[in-house]
Amino acid sequence: MSGRVAFVTGITGQDGSYLAEHLLGLGYSVHGLVRANSGTHGSSLGNIKDVFHRLTLHKGDVLDVNCLIGILKEIQPEEIYHLAAQSHVTTSFRIPDYTFQVNTVGCLNILQAILHCDLTDKTKLYNAATSELYGGVAEAGFLSERSPFRPRSPYAVSKLSALWLVRNYRAAHGIFAVNGILFNHESPRRNIRFVTTRIARGVARYYLGLREQPIKLASVDVRRDWGHARDYVYGMWLMLQQSTPEDMILASGESRSIREFVEEAFQSIRVRVVWQGADADLRAVNAENGDTLVEIDSSLGRPVEVECLRGDSSLARTKIGWKPQITFKELVREMVGSEIRQNNTCSIL
Ligand code: NDP
Repeated sequence: MSGRVAFVTGITGQDGSYLAEHLLGLGYSVHGLVRANSGTHGSSLGNIKDVFHRLTLHKGDVLDVNCLIGILKEIQPEEIYHLAAQSHVTTSFRIPDYTFQVNTVGCLNILQAILHCDLTDKTKLYNAATSELYGGVAEAGFLSERSPFRPRSPYAVSKLSALWLVRNYRAAHGIFAVNGILFNHESPRRNIRFVTTRIARGVARYYLGLREQPIKLASVDVRRDWGHARDYVYGMWLMLQQSTPEDMILASGESRSIREFVEEAFQSIRVRVVWQGADADLRAVNAENGDTLVEIDSSLGRPVEVECLRGDSSLARTKIGWKPQITFKELVREMVGSEIRQNNTCSIL
């Protein structure tokens, strides 16, 4: 295994840091793309200080095909993990053009760079696709690789275009390229823009007596299929260890509402939540002392929502032997615990 070269775009993001750790652990030489203005230590890479020195970081941008060509020519990777994206769905409604550039043209640039550098026979590509492509499912249903795509955001449309570019380059040019259609995965390294981290931080600050106001959420009835990022990056790696490229879903198979996430998070600090009111006046309240813990703020929502996601990952389970190891409860507890430690340190400093 040792001696293989991997190139990771989006290495400063949540998945990038877990993947870098995983690949370094296997003895890979790991190269990452970082944007010129990106502060690596404030990013997810700050969580892997003990192995950070073993990474080789290249300044660049997925929007600059010449920089990608230069890097690929120099490092000749066996594996490329293309994770870089404008990954926040709600933001994609505000900056659709930019989202399209980064998510679609960025992917095209990676594919073009592989061709340009004559790496078609040498290099395998993993492309980060998403459950958002499906646009949702009825609450009792499952989404599989055969389900129709019905994207409901500029983010999802941009990722769907990228998925088809990958399929097209695979068919037309014989590139070993796979789309990993990943359902939501979180961790203590998830950016604060995402609802799970906002909840975990709000709960931690409540526990520490530091909170300024209740946690504001757009809705609590949206349902997602949540897993832990550590499990999902392992699945990415497994997809590239196959002899033929195949797109596949990684999902836990369980669908939970944001309401359940809130309840589990407060449960982890031994606070029992009761819900009062309805719709815009819905509130989560501490059953013991009546504190308002969560309020609805519809201005935080998307113009069009994906109500429910639940994935069927049987293909990945049978073909590559992937199975998530970390449960929903463990995920939520790890996120809240990590926020308690971080916010506690901040309050002392
Ligand atoms: P993050 O938002 O945490 O990370 C995104 C990464 O992309 C960051 O490293 C960011 O760099 C980088 N990036 C953004 N724009 C550019 C650019 N123009 N050039 C180079 N790098 C850029 O995402 P995640 O780690 O959570 O997700 C990884 C991938 O998986 C993404 O493509 C995402 O869309 C996809 N995905 C994620 C899911 C999830 O639940 N987490 C579910 C399904 C798919 P910087 O630090 O400079 O901002």
